[in-house]
Amino acid sequence: MILEKFALSGKTAIVTGARTGLGKGMAVGLAEAGADLVIVNRSPMLETEEEIRKLGRRCLPIEADLSNTNVIPEIVKRTLDEFGKIDILVNNAGIIRRAPSIEFTEKDWDDVINVNLKAVFFFSQAVAREMIKNNGGKIINIASMLSFQGGILVPSYAASKGGVASLTKTLANEWAKYNINVNAIAPGYMATNNTEPLRKDDERNKSILDRIPEGRWGLPEDLKGAVVYLASEASDYVTGHILCVDGGWLAR
Ligand code: NAD
Repeated sequence: MILEKFALSGKTAIVTGARTGLGKGMAVGLAEAGADLVIVNRSPMLETEEEIRKLGRRCLPIEADLSNTNVIPEIVKRTLDEFGKIDILVNNAGIIRRAPSIEFTEKDWDDVINVNLKAVFFFSQAVAREMIKNNGGKIINIASMLSFQGGILVPSYAASKGGVASLTKTLANEWAKYNINVNAIAPGYMATNNTEPLRKDDERNKSILDRIPEGRWGLPEDLKGAVVYLASEASDYVTGHILCVDGGWLAR
């Protein structure tokens, strides 16, 4: 029956960047659907951990800084030691730096590309090696409206998210034969730390809201349906897709 195909009971999911915002919302959504969680962040994730445990799911929090790919093997090892397998990976951790391109620094370029793009590739690679042994899995990358558009004053972020969309398709092509589905969610304008400066700028805030047909900023809660779908058997024939959850932004 179709609703049973959305259930994630007995599945192990890793969500990166799960302390706040969209990562926290998606980790809790996956737990609501029945998954046990490994949550990864550079700082403690007490609230996320508590919400997952309250749902009766197991939760392994791992503090690690994904700006260095050296941390990835240890995260995979600790996950396997605790749960024995990895069914779902959500590459959500991400940062943004804002400055005009004419004066953008190499540090702001490298910092963003390292977390938003390089870590996504090498985390996916490390996890896919385990998924292959386990006859498949689901990888969900977090893209952006800036996977499609250039944005304003965010050159490294736009480049990283364009890269995430392309990488999603590359990995989907290569790994379909291993039963690994690789998809992305492209959130629209969501009310999180990442967008606080935009929401505080009355002019930008108004121009953004004016373009969103739904007429409001998105919330972490709004991603739960998409992430559970892409993590579940219900989406077994969907791969290489970028699912926009944007209140209609791109339709304008
Ligand atoms: P957020 O700042 O609330 O969350 C980002 C999380 O990633 C935080 O918990 C942060 O601590 C963690 N993180 C950052 N760098 C890390 C590192 N080096 N190692 C480990 N963890 C790290 O912002 P958010 O809006 O929830 O962003 C989540 C994802 O969604 C990002 O990839 C972001 O680019 C993407 N996104 C956000 C929006 C939006 O409107 N908010 C839109 C499109 C895409």
